[in-house]
Amino acid sequence: MDKLLRNYRRFRTEDLPERRALFERLAREGQSPRAMVIACADSRADPAMIFDTEPGELFVVRNVAAIVPPFAPDGKYHGTSAALEYAVQVLQVPVLIVLGHALCGGVGALLRGVPDATPDFLGPWVHIADAARHRVLECAPADPQAMGEQEVVKLSLGNLLTFPWIAARVAESKLTLYGAKFDIRTGALSLLQPDGGFAEI
Ligand SMILES: [Zn+2]
Repeated sequence: MDKLLRNYRRFRTEDLPERRALFERLAREGQSPRAMVIACADSRADPAMIFDTEPGELFVVRNVAAIVPPFAPDGKYHGTSAALEYAVQVLQVPVLIVLGHALCGGVGALLRGVPDATPDFLGPWVHIADAARHRVLECAPADPQAMGEQEVVKLSLGNLLTFPWIAARVAESKLTLYGAKFDIRTGALSLLQPDGGFAEI
């Protein structure tokens, strides 16, 4: 915590004065982010770092494994879906990116089982992506983890289209969906292609 507070003091004294105009404009005019990103909570896959963005540019939701659940307006606690609803319906973001990443522990838990210390929430959460696990098991690839990371991105994109207001905006060309994967080992970002593969950009 000491290190974090030292960083904060540096932010207040050094970074903030340089960005004062930006912050004041964002406070005055509100946010109009250029994209929403659904990313993993993993500390190595920070969308603001990867896309080198300033405050106000990205509306970000991070959860375990960047999973989008299917549309289920059942009155339960849908944090990711609530954020989607706000970003798409109110902010009307034009771009929505599902950002997976290499070495994802959430995908590992999906493929190999959750750690013993996480009996309450992690299992039901990652099993939203069971169909991705089944595809990996069917294909038996050389690198199941890497394939699982890609399949979870595709599953999340498919689930996005189960939200009727997302599907409608995509059909009207007011919203474009992208799948992506970041690899901390190389710093490379790959984008999902129409053929289902991921290509480094
Ligand atoms: Zn992850």
